[in-house]
Amino acid sequence: MSVKEENINEEKKSLSFVEQFVEEDLAEGKNGGRIQTRFPPEPNGYLHIGHAKAICMDFGVAEKYHGVCNLRFDDTNPSKENTEYVENILNDIKWLGFEWGNIYYASDYFQELWDFAVWMIKQGLAYVDEQTSEQIAEQKGTPTEPGTASPYRDRPIEENLALFLKMNTPEAVEGSMVLRAKLDMANPNMHFRDPIMYRIIQIPHHRMGSKWHAYPMYDFAHGQSDYFEGVTHSICTLEFVPHRPLYDKFIDFLKEMNGETENLNDYRPRQIEFNRLNLTYTVMSKRKLHTLVDEGLVVGWDDPRMPTLCGMRRRGYSPESIRMFIDSIGYTKFEALNDMALLEASVREDLNKRACRVSAVLNPVKLVITNYPEGKTEEMKAVNNPENLEEGSHTITFSRELWIEREDFMEEAPKKFFRMSLGKEVRLKNAYIVKCTGCTKDADGNITEIQAEYDPTSKSGDIGANRKVKGTLHWLSVNHCRKAEVRIYDRLFSIENPAADERDFRELLNPESLRIYENCFVETYAAEKQPGEYLQFQRIGYFMADPDSTPEKPVYNKTVGLKDTWTKQKRID
Ligand code: ATP
Ligand code: MG
Repeated sequence: MSVKEENINEEKKSLSFVEQFVEEDLAEGKNGGRIQTRFPPEPNGYLHIGHAKAICMDFGVAEKYHGVCNLRFDDTNPSKENTEYVENILNDIKWLGFEWGNIYYASDYFQELWDFAVWMIKQGLAYVDEQTSEQIAEQKGTPTEPGTASPYRDRPIEENLALFLKMNTPEAVEGSMVLRAKLDMANPNMHFRDPIMYRIIQIPHHRMGSKWHAYPMYDFAHGQSDYFEGVTHSICTLEFVPHRPLYDKFIDFLKEMNGETENLNDYRPRQIEFNRLNLTYTVMSKRKLHTLVDEGLVVGWDDPRMPTLCGMRRRGYSPESIRMFIDSIGYTKFEALNDMALLEASVREDLNKRACRVSAVLNPVKLVITNYPEGKTEEMKAVNNPENLEEGSHTITFSRELWIEREDFMEEAPKKFFRMSLGKEVRLKNAYIVKCTGCTKDADGNITEIQAEYDPTSKSGDIGANRKVKGTLHWLSVNHCRKAEVRIYDRLFSIENPAADERDFRELLNPESLRIYENCFVETYAAEKQPGEYLQFQRIGYFMADPDSTPEKPVYNKTVGLKDTWTKQKRID
């Protein structure tokens, strides 16, 4: 094999199966070499990380093959949709870093879909059924037994036309009639057993108001919308595999209505399915996410524990880390459960390159440097990001009275405790080496203050100051820092796969998924940081300012720890 051939093979291997299909279609000259995809959210909730997987695919394919990806709001059910969701979906897609071609709405095609339905009725391909949904369900049969025909199946065309018109009036009663396609009640594919095309909904539509009263079902809207727009590759998730023959069938009818004779290279959208993203310790169903929000089990759609994109943004995840994670799990034809720890590893890897290093003390205890002059201060240089020196530095004020973490001190410490203990030396980050000389306790034996002496020749950055000591601690000057609230998050659910559990999912919530620390301190420089700016609290983890911050009290969300302590902890359990 030549080097060139090998390279081509290498490239083929790294293509996802969706990209392979697309390349085959391009090689065959289908659709005149045009590539057009769409991302079709229903505006009935906020986007979650599962949607991000679909977005990366839909936009990724268009970008890679010089095509276009449009947005289409699948707004065919006014009872659950609104413009607030539309706005937030737009915002989240932009945040992920994608650009759409056009914005379309399925509701823009309501007239065309209506006309198509009327044509089907006239062809004897559709009928109005006046049975209840329970009766219709009972007649469906099973995959191995044929269904039973509705008593309304063979009513005259004129009657169907009149009733269909009636379905679209303000007087029509919800559930009293549906329009069904007259296909095949014995087809092994259940979706062919006279699927419902239209139902009555008497709730105003967020764009159309009260113009319509009969609304198309997903199966009667999606494929046709793809066709009207000229979508070449309609990429969706695996649960739509059994819908595909019906998707193709309705397009056959559309082509027939338009008098198109089928040539091999005629335009036709192609549906391709990939596996959904499922994550451990969370749920992805919009219905369940709605329940969490509506019942106040989380603070909102953007609660940092939610798997929503707005929740992840508020928590401090970068869009790049989400895209990196999606890239790493890939696209397959098999359903799987992806490990949350993998997502967190991507976040950690990306934030390590981005985050500004600052100091914060979450569980403070006072440290007094007894040989440092009272009233004296020094501005110590703190590098913003050792991974990227171009990001410069800021200063942090040093003084006689400091806060350090309570966990960083033990009066008498075991051998491997490289933090502060009596008689031992440690370096205070960006400042001096100090030696612990004593501590003060209250009546209960709790440590109220630690004393130490500093070595004036050991200042960080000074020539000759690089005497080695084992531990380095972060600190804040008591009179030069700000009080802060810090919110620490854990898994939202206490079991790995709540979606697969028989119990009510609300019972599976982790009661300790949020812990609030009210008496923390941060350096002044960190107090000025805004939501959207990535921070690392040195030695603790990645954090981001929360919109709940006030000038008096900044609030921070913990994005993720510096190390994956969670997986380790689980192994010990
Ligand atoms: P629901 O939870 O109400 O069934 P949905 O999650 O399917 O809704 P849509 O707004 O219809 O929400 O989804 C828009 C697109 O995102 C669809 O193409 C859908 O296949 C895709 N999508 C939704 N959830 C996931 C997921 N977990 N993984 C990958 N793609 C997803
Ligand atoms: Mg859906």
